[in-house]
Amino acid sequence: MAAPSGSGGVEVLLNTLQTAGDNESMLKVLNVLDELLSAGTDRRIHYMISKGGSEALLTALVNSARCHTPSYTILLPLLHLLAKVGHRDRQIGVKAEKTDAVLLVLDLLRQNVTNPRRAAACLWVIQVFCSSVTTAVLMGRNRGLYVVFKLISSHTTKHLRTVKAAVDAFTALLRSKVNCRTAVAKGYVSDLLKLYEDWHNNDASFENIPIRRALLHCMHRVANTSAGREALVAEGGMSLLFQTTQTFLTVKTLESLVEPAVQLMRKCYPKVPIPVTSDKSVYSFPLPGRPVDGWVADLGPYDGSLEDDSDEDTENEDPDKDYEDDLETDVNKLRPRPEPDRPLEQLGQYVRLCPELHHDFQDLDSSSELDESSDEDENSRGRRSQAGKGESLSPNGSDSSISLGVDDKNPGSEVERHLQTRDFQKHYLNCSENSQEGHSSMVDRLLEKYGTCIPNHDPRLYASTASDTKSIAGYSILAFPDFWGHLPPQIQEPMAKRPPHVQRKKVFEDIQRLLSTEDIINKDVFDLEDPSLQGSTEGCPNSLRFFSKFESGNLRKAIQVRSHEYDLILNADVNSSAHYQWFYFEVSGMVAGVPYRFNVINCEKGNSQCNYGMQPVLYSVREALEGRAHWVRSGSEISYYRNHFCPGGGQNSQFYTLTFTVTFLHDDDVCYLAYHYPYTYSNLQTHLKMLENSVDPRKVFFRRQNLCDTLAGNSCSLVTITACPASKAWKDLHQLRNRPCVVLTARVHPGESNASWVMKGTLEFLCSDDPVAESLREAYIFKVIPMLNPDGVINGNNRCSLSAEDLNRQWLKPDPILSPTIYHTKGFLYYLNSIGRTPLVFCDYHGHSRKKNVFLYGCSMKETLWQSGSTINTASLKEDPGYRTIAKTLDRIAPAFSFNNCNYLVEKSRASTARVVVWREIGVLRSFTMESTYNGCNQGIYKGLQTGTRELEEMGMKFSQSLLTLRRNSIQYSSRLIHNASALLDLDDRLLDHKSNNCFEDDEPPCPEEIQYSSCTDLFGANDLDTEVNVNMSSIEEDEGKNERRLTDRKSQQLPHFLQQDAMETLSIKSGQCNNMDISNRYFY
Ligand SMILES: [Zn+2]
Repeated sequence: MAAPSGSGGVEVLLNTLQTAGDNESMLKVLNVLDELLSAGTDRRIHYMISKGGSEALLTALVNSARCHTPSYTILLPLLHLLAKVGHRDRQIGVKAEKTDAVLLVLDLLRQNVTNPRRAAACLWVIQVFCSSVTTAVLMGRNRGLYVVFKLISSHTTKHLRTVKAAVDAFTALLRSKVNCRTAVAKGYVSDLLKLYEDWHNNDASFENIPIRRALLHCMHRVANTSAGREALVAEGGMSLLFQTTQTFLTVKTLESLVEPAVQLMRKCYPKVPIPVTSDKSVYSFPLPGRPVDGWVADLGPYDGSLEDDSDEDTENEDPDKDYEDDLETDVNKLRPRPEPDRPLEQLGQYVRLCPELHHDFQDLDSSSELDESSDEDENSRGRRSQAGKGESLSPNGSDSSISLGVDDKNPGSEVERHLQTRDFQKHYLNCSENSQEGHSSMVDRLLEKYGTCIPNHDPRLYASTASDTKSIAGYSILAFPDFWGHLPPQIQEPMAKRPPHVQRKKVFEDIQRLLSTEDIINKDVFDLEDPSLQGSTEGCPNSLRFFSKFESGNLRKAIQVRSHEYDLILNADVNSSAHYQWFYFEVSGMVAGVPYRFNVINCEKGNSQCNYGMQPVLYSVREALEGRAHWVRSGSEISYYRNHFCPGGGQNSQFYTLTFTVTFLHDDDVCYLAYHYPYTYSNLQTHLKMLENSVDPRKVFFRRQNLCDTLAGNSCSLVTITACPASKAWKDLHQLRNRPCVVLTARVHPGESNASWVMKGTLEFLCSDDPVAESLREAYIFKVIPMLNPDGVINGNNRCSLSAEDLNRQWLKPDPILSPTIYHTKGFLYYLNSIGRTPLVFCDYHGHSRKKNVFLYGCSMKETLWQSGSTINTASLKEDPGYRTIAKTLDRIAPAFSFNNCNYLVEKSRASTARVVVWREIGVLRSFTMESTYNGCNQGIYKGLQTGTRELEEMGMKFSQSLLTLRRNSIQYSSRLIHNASALLDLDDRLLDHKSNNCFEDDEPPCPEEIQYSSCTDLFGANDLDTEVNVNMSSIEEDEGKNERRLTDRKSQQLPHFLQQDAMETLSIKSGQCNNMDISNRYFY
């Protein structure tokens, strides 16, 4: 009983346990310990572990087992206690090895295989020892697998606890992959499957669910190795699991078996390379100064273990990464540093982009000259590039990109018939501006007969504009929706409800592909690389036809899997072998009323809003011709989950399936499906031309200029919008030239078409005759670059430019050749800065694939330092709080906007984005990224609805309006303005009581079904080891002798009272202290 002086009751007890030599004393101590630990919480056990409890139990076990006549009176309670304590001690395996207890317990098990109660106790201890892989290996080497497996019996009604303990111990041994491979080599997989089947077949009254779950858990462990997965498949595991699981579905009590079984099947599904010739994009583009195959060095698909984007801009963000570590804490890097990255003399070239500052407006009374000068740059650029640059563009040549030929096989008289076929657009909408008479007159007749009036859209102008667009593939076809136009539908579209177990249903269908192949067709029906498979009507009367060789189109391949199911493969970004998300394709040849299942099988991101109510969009030519020219949200049974495909190149990454089912309205319609509302480059150019023509040149100064040419020779437009001066008097000219600048950009990421719709709303509002718009034009000079990545948009990229780089990662040091649009936008901003006209506001419009609502990211030095926990005293740092004003206004006036989603933190990983670089290097206080959801809103009046183009355009309008609040004190108030903008002008500056949020917090609850399937720990939940052990301890089913039972009575009061009390107090007080919690002692008295 001699314990070190000063030690508490627990130490005394532990010391007694190891040194007491007699059974009686040991038993008393064990009883007290068990009583103490059972009554309290886990914290008591952890306290005991911290005092050497595990070692004491192990030592006592070894000493007792090695004496001449080991007594199970002592060994059994020791094993029980060891299981409970070891279960909470991460180091138990290591400690067991040190005390030589590992093989000793294995021996005890061998000696007691016929004694179920003792065997169970040994098995639990083996299970907890295996929390250390090396311990599991040690046991595996000593035939542990064999000994344990023998105790897993086929169906029985006896000793169920022991059988389950054996399954759990075997599962624990398989934590070691070495053991896993041994188990596979020894043929245990086949036996496990037989056992599973046996328990399934004989469990008529569903009493053995825990054992069946345990067997599934065990097979999950097996499936952690490729040998295990292969063995499970080879031994018929998929079929067995599939068949048995089908019977579960009808029985509610078996629900807890379904999910583990489904996940196990997903895990075992043999990996199949995506059926394409190469992971690389079908489109490549020779980059200046780089070897033709230079882009092969592209890193390929990101490791799928990294998570999806928070969109501003790391494409695959790891959500587990400590966000705080990413915050910039270097004050020097948080201070503005307006200092050009290039010689000042190079900035002179940007003078031309400020025509409003140099125009003398002597022509103010005659609009003719304005018209003439308008678009001057754009036109001359177009001529230049067509004469020169085009030829070096691509093997196809840019100038031939638009087919000018007329299909003479389809005379005009057949218009009506062809309207209902896919050939409709192919034959009649070739976007030629100078095609022959018959052809264009046909388009005219169509438009006359069916054309709808879509504001700011003109199909003829679109077709001629598109003929100037330079694509790598040399597009000769226009997609009908872009040509014809789109109007938002009248009805608002709610988010799709997720049907229960939709993923499970889809996964079952996927697994059936492997098991029953009778209905599997597996026929390629579209292939971007095979001209014979590009929408020809012959040869496949029972298939849908697909097509995507048009602007912004992205579909690489379509495979008919079953009669009404298609696998779709997206094309990688040009010059790359990654970045799959955006899709846009045409589908035709359908039968009305039949559900078609589509699976986009090479998605990259770890999750999708499609699991939370988002639907793709669909456009029907037939509907459009009947006056409903709408992109509508479409698709049912939508689910997004990790699949069994892998890249062909063998990279260690994974793909996800986006599956949705579409039931078409009309037979043999021509429909278009897209990830989001398409908005092409030709759309933008058409809109700009229409806007230019729509404004009153005496009131609105509108200039469309070429900022620069892109790599492919397309124009990157810069638009200037402001009010013409009231007169050509010096005072009015002076007022104009002193208006602050607002610089807006969008669509640096081509897949974010929502950003273009928001920008369209902004531009149309700024050109409108709304009094707020008039005031805005009088208050500001707007410089808008509506599409920073034209080449990416044109060629159907999701993320990058032709250089396979994310342009929003190039702002720190943009390359003038490879990233010209960024290089010149930044140069232009430097120029404005150098002439003392640093923009008042900069905003880059984006789309966000993980979140709902619309929100801003801004930059605040102080908020960043606070959030990062920096010790820097921010009181001495000065910061203008104006960066919050716009978000506060938008929260009030824009229904889709959510202040709570905004964030003003500067992250290291975002150091090269537009927002951070423009803030820091150009010195723009209000520098933002505006993120718009692809899905919808979870707040405000749009709560529960998906956003349409109307809502996106409204957001663009509201953003413009919010800018007025920054100039409230200097604008002219007319009664018309006050009437129209009271909500805006009534604003007060009360700080909204919102806290800035961590932008990387996922705003979604966990997906109702597992997207991944690699981890099985969650499936099997907390271990119920304690309960099992307790039952075993008090068990009377085994005959251990009367005497022993008396001794194991837990209510032992034979220990000196002082010792018991002392121990209790120590446990209570110490654990209370270390956890800062008061643990009640009431259980002990
Ligand atoms: Zn983006």
